[in-house]
Amino acid sequence: MQHVITSNGDPHLSYHELLTTLDPRQRAWVEVNPASIEANARKIKHRISDGCILMAVVKADGYGHGAKTVAEAALRGGASSLGVATLQEGLDLRQSGLDCPILVLGNLTNPDDLSACIYWELMPTLSNIQEILLCQNLAENCERKFKVQLKVDTGMTRLGCDLEEAPNLINRINQLDHLDLVGVYSHLALADVDLSGHGAKVTAAQKQRFDLLLKEVAPLKDTFCSHLANSAGTLRDKFLHYDMVRVGIALYGYSPISHLHDDIDLRPALAVKARVTFVREVPKGTGVSYGHSFITKRASRLAVLGIGYADGVSRSLSGKIYALKDGQCIPQVGAITMDQIVLDVTDHGEISVGSVVTLLGEDGNKCITAKEWSQLNGSIPWEVLCGFKNRLPRLVI
Ligand SMILES: *Cc1c(COP(=O)(O)O)cnc(C)c1O
Repeated sequence: MQHVITSNGDPHLSYHELLTTLDPRQRAWVEVNPASIEANARKIKHRISDGCILMAVVKADGYGHGAKTVAEAALRGGASSLGVATLQEGLDLRQSGLDCPILVLGNLTNPDDLSACIYWELMPTLSNIQEILLCQNLAENCERKFKVQLKVDTGMTRLGCDLEEAPNLINRINQLDHLDLVGVYSHLALADVDLSGHGAKVTAAQKQRFDLLLKEVAPLKDTFCSHLANSAGTLRDKFLHYDMVRVGIALYGYSPISHLHDDIDLRPALAVKARVTFVREVPKGTGVSYGHSFITKRASRLAVLGIGYADGVSRSLSGKIYALKDGQCIPQVGAITMDQIVLDVTDHGEISVGSVVTLLGEDGNKCITAKEWSQLNGSIPWEVLCGFKNRLPRLVI
């Protein structure tokens, strides 16, 4: 859901016109800055070698930013391929007019889904001989050549065929006249964990297994694109890059390894803002919100924002976050509820009904990041970003 803001001063608008011209900034909204995505893509592209392809991972509606917006910005910044998790995500991108290579990272097993991939030229991820033969049959029936990729498990233990099966499956696909094996890939499990120690050991072992496989199928190696790295793998070691890198979180401005952030200077692209809908004065000792987990220690002024966990502000952040107004921090108090949260604005006389505050993103000289939120409730920036629901309008700025 994306909105273009128009002025709405015409008193003669019909109800229907009013609906389509309503300012989406009445309550709470997400602002997405495609220039930041583009700049991040450019910086990442700069990190990888000239021949290496940058795939922008835009699953989960572009990590909550809007898949089409992100895809277009990333392509401007040097990405040349897109990754999605589901068939529908791929179809949505095709229907919005994007014609670059798109890889579906999830497993598709339904023949209708795979037929849709053929028709819309989406590459499925295959993991076993049944899927391979099914794709060959479907492509044969419609007299098409079907571009597919094979996923190999090197230690993530999620999707992908066993390592030992991989050479045989690669050879089988190559023998099938309606399949075109364009990629062989694997996925790292601990690339964002310590650069020395356990994380390093597991990552090195995964790389070694992947190298061994590529060596085993050496005569075919130049006929497909091999790839292994997510954002963490991309930033931590150029020997993990191979022919392509699949970058998600770094594109959205977050380094999965904090100390690698400084030398690449990624910029978050998403902000969450909300308007004060109600202000009240209460005496000292007043319990606030469900459970009264916060009790005022002084006569207080409280402001209500129309945003809650149904919008993606996790209840587990209750009483831990703050909002920004002109670079000032305003504490959130009491339980975060489904649709409302309360701020203690006793020290912020300038706040009144209609004031806009920033919950996530930059304001004045301060910035609240998804990483900070994730550290407050034991989550990760990935989950915070893709947690913002469609009830929040996305504004592209
Ligand atoms: C989500 C995903 C990525 C991107 O991961 P980030 O850590 O966000 O860069 C890459 N590859 C696969 C297979 C994925 O599922």
